[in-house]
Amino acid sequence: MALMRSWLESANAPGCAFPLNNLPCGVFGRDGEAPRCGVAIGDQIVDMAAAESAGLVQLADAPLFGAPSWNAVMEAGPATWRAMRARLAELLGEGTAERAAVADYLVPQDGAQMYMPFRVAGFTDFYASRQHAFNVGTMFRGPENALPPNWLHIPIGYNGRSSSVMVSGGEVRRPWGQVKGPDDEAPRFAPSARFDIELELGAVVGQASSGPVTVAEADAMIFGYVLLNDWSARDIQAWEYQPLGPFQGKATATTIGSWIVMKDALEPFRVATPEREKPLLSYLAEPGPMLYDIALDVALTPKDGAETVISRTNYRTMYYSAAQQLAHHTTAGCRMDVGDLLGTGTISGAEAGSFGSLLEMSWGGKQPVSLSDGGVRSFVEDGDTLDLRGRCIGDGYEIGFGECRARVLPALTDPYAR
Ligand code: CA
Repeated sequence: MALMRSWLESANAPGCAFPLNNLPCGVFGRDGEAPRCGVAIGDQIVDMAAAESAGLVQLADAPLFGAPSWNAVMEAGPATWRAMRARLAELLGEGTAERAAVADYLVPQDGAQMYMPFRVAGFTDFYASRQHAFNVGTMFRGPENALPPNWLHIPIGYNGRSSSVMVSGGEVRRPWGQVKGPDDEAPRFAPSARFDIELELGAVVGQASSGPVTVAEADAMIFGYVLLNDWSARDIQAWEYQPLGPFQGKATATTIGSWIVMKDALEPFRVATPEREKPLLSYLAEPGPMLYDIALDVALTPKDGAETVISRTNYRTMYYSAAQQLAHHTTAGCRMDVGDLLGTGTISGAEAGSFGSLLEMSWGGKQPVSLSDGGVRSFVEDGDTLDLRGRCIGDGYEIGFGECRARVLPALTDPYAR
């Protein structure tokens, strides 16, 4: 596929994250305006609520785009998702007769406030990067027990908290929690000294299910993908995680990107999962390529400092796809809802410089990461801003994921002060 040209010149610019091929979904508002659905194009946002009110975009009997979330659009189903993309391609494509009509409903991205793009029904986080599982397992249990015996058979996950999910642009306060280091005789309650990031993608479930679904059905249920930073307090996690998995170590915040990149925009970038090391049970068989070639970066900017890109990796390195994770999630009868969010798990490649967490980059703090301004990091420090970035590189165009950013605030002096 080549660049789909728009009459909006900023959408055709080389390196533009939001060409006509992309059309990602967000929720926006300017000062004092009610948040509503918008679609990014070039350096603008199509005000979908206003375009719908004006009759330019009509996909259902009742309004779909006036709400501060994409849940109603997702619920309307894949035929509506495709009809929306086709209508926007008409309105925004080069040579349209409707240019003047739609131009009235474009809002500059610059100066727009972005909100949570969807109402998160449930949040589940997985553990699907073989390299990440091996790295963390090696540090927590030693190299001989690194990969749990079930790992090559099950997409391992845990149920997180939808209340912890926040949109890009916010602040994350360093948590307090119960910790016990190897030299401590007893656990202590203290601010996390090993607060970390996890570079992930999130699959946004756009259709509900009741009962087990196949991998193909699961793929069809996915509306799109967002960047996802799963903040993790490693010291809290290390003390609490056995036997039921992470709990308070992952409860502080999960930052997601402002824009949902729809699955249709990613179709040209589909790639297969790596070769299976052990045959999978048949319910996990993939009917076709279920991963995507998405280049991913993590950038760290200290307070008053310069940015350093601390990791470069790719979603295509994952062992399990989001469709496999979603299919597995339903096997025991779990109902899935519109707005469920499935984290892929930390995305770590095999090469140096491609790990998705500071825990791995600094190897548990033993080899601190060097920053461009002379500083070093084993874990995040107060005042640091973390940016995740993602893009697919097509033939003369890119599909960008927009901003996924948060800044770290210092721990409270006393979390129980009233
Ligand atoms: Ca995670």
